[in-house]
Amino acid sequence: MRVGSGFDVHAFGPGDALVLGGVRIPHGRGVVAHSDGDVLLHALVDALLGAAGLGDIGEHFPDTDPRWRGVDSREFVTATLEMLARRSWRVVNVDLTLLAQQPRIAPWREQIRHSVATLLGLSVGEVNLKATTTEHLGFLGRNEGLAAMATVLIDRA
Ligand code: MG
Repeated sequence: MRVGSGFDVHAFGPGDALVLGGVRIPHGRGVVAHSDGDVLLHALVDALLGAAGLGDIGEHFPDTDPRWRGVDSREFVTATLEMLARRSWRVVNVDLTLLAQQPRIAPWREQIRHSVATLLGLSVGEVNLKATTTEHLGFLGRNEGLAAMATVLIDRA
């Protein structure tokens, strides 16, 4: 068994929706990103790569590569899972934390858990999603962007 952690940040920018855990959430702003800017899935990919000792998301899916422009971040997760499967790793459970002053994630929590669980081939009980504000402190508290942390456990398939 091995553990991995991931962290990601995106700044808010023009737009009318966010993508979080593969779920499109209507919002007053979008995010500045090369891909769809899904912070939860980017943190998750880094956690998976970290657990397997395979580097980080920037190494495998560089934002300088036009192939990844505007891409659905679920593709990063799927490609990462394939890398893990080739090395006989399977995901045991995932714990995600969204750090943002807005949006409030509670109304979307179950849908996001379900989306991530489906993506990973896990049951919803194996995918946890927590959210916190930063009590109006710092760039997150000033509502300049959002961040996510992910922890995963992997085991031999
Ligand atoms: Mg990112």
